[in-house]
Amino acid sequence: MGVQHWTIGEVRIHAVLQAVIPIPVSRLFGNAPPHLPTTLVPDYVDASGAILMAIQSYLIESGTARVLVDTCFGSRFLRSREILDRYDESLAATGFTPDDITAVVCTHLHRDHVGRNTTERAGQWVPTFPAADYLLTAAEYRHWCEFTGDDRAPAECIAPLEQQGLLRLVAPDHRVTDDIALIATPGHTPGHVSVRIESAGAVAYISGDTVHHPVQIGDPEIAALPDVDPVSARASREQLLRRAADERALLLGSHFTAPSGGFVGRGDGGPTWQPLVD
Ligand SMILES: [Zn+2]
Repeated sequence: MGVQHWTIGEVRIHAVLQAVIPIPVSRLFGNAPPHLPTTLVPDYVDASGAILMAIQSYLIESGTARVLVDTCFGSRFLRSREILDRYDESLAATGFTPDDITAVVCTHLHRDHVGRNTTERAGQWVPTFPAADYLLTAAEYRHWCEFTGDDRAPAECIAPLEQQGLLRLVAPDHRVTDDIALIATPGHTPGHVSVRIESAGAVAYISGDTVHHPVQIGDPEIAALPDVDPVSARASREQLLRRAADERALLLGSHFTAPSGGFVGRGDGGPTWQPLVD
């Protein structure tokens, strides 16, 4: 599948893919059935039964704003030049350069979401998107200061932004533009946010890590092992899915492989995932 784009009213959204990574079910979900529904093969589950996880950003074009939601892995964690280059190529395919980005939304401070906030140049970490405000909730920043786990984004993804005055600590319902707002979806991490886009009567949501994989839409009880607070993560997941269904909104999964956009339907057995295929 080629580069994915969507139109929501007057807003354009592009997927900026870095990588697709197969992961054994038990490594991501502690309580999933060992065999996932075969309807998820081959787009979301591979032939061996492994979960397919996309690492990707979404770029939202709204008027003169170019808002990048998350920045994927950076070079500290990902040594593969090929994968790092692929991210740059995916961004270039949208028609924009890093200098064009006016805001970066950090849904949360895990390294697969903020790694490319900065780039190493001549031994120094510098902002990858020098014209952007980097938006982060104050709750997430506080959590990151106290948290030392493996998933924690390294300091070089945050400190250079602070030094250059590019880091903006915001409320979890912060409005980024007239069309784009954050919504609080705590649980995966305490200050986690998703993104809501509304334009000319059309609505879309970008999930962040509120939902990692389409299998969780049919069964919101399935919890990702890295969720810091699984109870509130589940409540946030159910609320996001309910809102998406109520509003007939396009849901864009941050870790969903293509087709990564679709609708949440209401089946007899609970919510259903209806991928949007061109
Ligand atoms: Zn993630």
